[in-house]
Amino acid sequence: MFSLTSILRRQAIAPVARNLFRATPVVASPIIPTVAPASLTLFRGFKVRTSVKKFCKDCYMVRRRGRVYVYCKSNGKHKQRQG
Ligand SMILES: [Zn+2]
Repeated sequence: MFSLTSILRRQAIAPVARNLFRATPVVASPIIPTVAPASLTLFRGFKVRTSVKKFCKDCYMVRRRGRVYVYCKSNGKHKQRQG
């Protein structure tokens, strides 16, 4: 008798659990915000290289945050970041 009741209880619970499982993907649909990491936005506009070098006479090196940066007064394309 005990086993029969446990089976009945399981059957009674099962549809509810199934509904929950069906509902969860709709409710908790993964809306992942496509926000770029802060590190990428912060250093945008820099060419990232393992080794940086000056391209013209206006290029100058600056060490900031433990990294070597190359800035350029005449050409923005010369901007680089090491690492
Ligand atoms: Zn330059």
